[in-house]
This record gives sequence, structure tokens and C-alpha cells, in this order.
Amino acid sequence: MNETIRPQPGILDIALYQGGKAHVAGVANAVKLSSNENPFGPSDKAKEAFAKTVHNLHRYPNTDHKALREAIGEVHHLDADRIICGVGSDEIITFLCQAYAGPRDEVVFTEHGFLMYRINTLAVGATPVEVPERERMTDVDAILKACTNRTKLVFIANPNNPTGTMISPAEMERLAEGLPKQAILVIDGAYAEYVEGYDGGAGLATARENVFVTRTFSKIYGLGGLRIGWGYGPRHIIDVLNRIRGPFNLSNTQLETAEAAVRDQEWVTKCRTENARMRHWLAEALAEIGVPSDISMANFVLARFGSVEEAEACDEFLQAQGLIVRRVAGYNLPNCLRITVGDEASCRRVAHAVGQFKGLK
Ligand SMILES: *Cc1c(COP(=O)(O)O)cnc(C)c1O
Repeated sequence: MNETIRPQPGILDIALYQGGKAHVAGVANAVKLSSNENPFGPSDKAKEAFAKTVHNLHRYPNTDHKALREAIGEVHHLDADRIICGVGSDEIITFLCQAYAGPRDEVVFTEHGFLMYRINTLAVGATPVEVPERERMTDVDAILKACTNRTKLVFIANPNNPTGTMISPAEMERLAEGLPKQAILVIDGAYAEYVEGYDGGAGLATARENVFVTRTFSKIYGLGGLRIGWGYGPRHIIDVLNRIRGPFNLSNTQLETAEAAVRDQEWVTKCRTENARMRHWLAEALAEIGVPSDISMANFVLARFGSVEEAEACDEFLQAQGLIVRRVAGYNLPNCLRITVGDEASCRRVAHAVGQFKGLK
């Protein structure tokens, strides 16, 4: 480390983000179940739109994202003027932290919350406040107790990653209602589409001045590689975030692919249905071989093992068979493995392999 050239306070406290592994040494065609990706990829309509963008790569994209915002607004019945688009929902989280938190401010999230909340909090010099959960469930009372007159942002993913659990809209409203006046509740809806009939908290964000929601094209839309996300909330927050958003943060390719993707809700419904079927199957199959999990509302299952050693040994065993799942020790869940719901063949393979592992002991 250089002694005289130093970054801003907080930055050296950031642990490097470890993405889900994609390869195992010596194994060709490993099955990747470590990043909650849609095993079926994006819709054909999104792929066609993507291919067409090759013809205007020399053109700068528009800066207001109007067509994409209007498409999102139509599909979700939201005011397009209250939507902002970003490079993944990660960028929306970054904007929120940059705009609302700084040194001496506090940003609240839960003990098994998404790692990007901590990273972005430290990046702006604010103080992360990590609140305990109750049996891997967001605990509204504990969050309210942790809030102070320095709390600026409260991040809750609902459903949460990596637990897969979610709290009810009534509980979320109680949280919004109980926050200190200067704080914003951010509801991260990365997995909202997996929950049938759930609006991701948009209704609450329509009604309240202190609630903001984030959404992504990375999960059910199968576009994680393209990096597109969006946020929705009160006008005063949108106006603030737009001031710090780079005018060309999204490319033509991102904008046009995302627009085609959001308009193809038939594909979303198909993926949701298939995910629910295989998630149920996988959770049952694991339970039968002595590996319990909480009821997941998302596209992964958090498999619980008897000990940290057992979870790590199982991960090694799976890797040797070309099956990549996610260790979640970084989320304070060292005795668990997060397994993305893949296609039927992958689910059967991973359940079979965990069964073999359990049989070895
Ligand atoms: C995957 C995920 C996201 C999505 O991030 P992008 O930047 O949109 O790819 C956001 N929040 C949570 C909790 C996630 O698991």
C-alpha cells in the first residue's frame, strides 16, 4: 500500500466482491448454479432486438431512456416519469448511496443482506449498520430499533438473496411507516418476478415519499450479461438520482434489448412457472436426503448443512462432479450452500450428487 497516496476513508474496508464461480479446473461443461441466472436465457424477442442493434453501433444512445421507461411503465402500470434505468440494479444502488449517504451517515441492511449494500455504503464513506435477522427472515422490529437520526437508507431485498425468504407487504409497510423521517426504504426486487402477483413494493413506492424500489433484467429476464436495471419511486428521489446518472450510462444495445424483453411477458410467465416447479422439486429432493431449506420465493434454494465442514465438503464433492453452487460464508451463512434452480436435468444432477455425498458418511 502507498503511504502518501490514500483513497477516501472506508474504501480500504471493502472486501473484494467474489462472483459465483463459472469453471472448475479440469472439468469441461461444468453446470453453473452459482449466480442465480435463468437457465433458459433471454426470450427470443430480446435476442432478435439485440442482434438488430448491430446496425446503429456508431450512434450515441439517447440519454432519457424514454422508450424503455415507457415500456416498463406500460407493463407494470407505473408512471414512466418516476422510473430511472441503470447499468444493472447495482448502479441504482450506487446512485442511492452517492446521493443520500456520506461520512457520519448510517446505511442499514440485514445480516444476510446483499453484499452490494455494504460495498456501496463504504464506497461513499458512510457507516454500514448490519441488523440481525430472525431465523433467516428480515426482522422489522430489529431494523426499526437499529435506526437513528443518522440513518439515511435502509436496504431490504424481498425476496432476499441468499435466504430466499420474504416478508409480507403489510410488514414492509409497517417498516416504511416506522422509519425516521430522513430515511429512505429501498426495496430490492431483483427476484420479484418469481413471486406470482407480487408488485415488488411498487404500490408502496407510489403511495409514499420514503420508499424506492429497484428491479433488474439480470434474473428472470436472463440478461445478466448485458447489465440493465431500473428503479421506481417518488419524483423527488428520481430527480436527485438523474443528476448523478451519466447521460450515456446505457448503450443502444442495452436499451433496445431490455425494451423487447420487458414487452415479452409470456416468456417471463413461462420462466416463473418452470422455476416454481423445479424449485419445489429440488427443495423436496434435498429434504428427503436430510438437507433442509427455508421455503424459497426466488430462483435458488439455500441448502443447510449440519456444520461448516459438511457444507464445504459437499461443495468440494459437487465441484469434482462439475456442479458449481455458491458458498455463502460471506453472507454469514457458512454452513449453507446456495443452489440456483437450473433446468430439470441440472436439478436432478445436483440433488443426486448431494444424495451421494450424504451417503458417503
Ligand atoms: C442479483 C441481484 C441483484 C441484481 O443486480 P444487477 O446489478 O441488476 O445484475 C440485485 N439485488 C440482489 C439482492 C440480487 O441478488
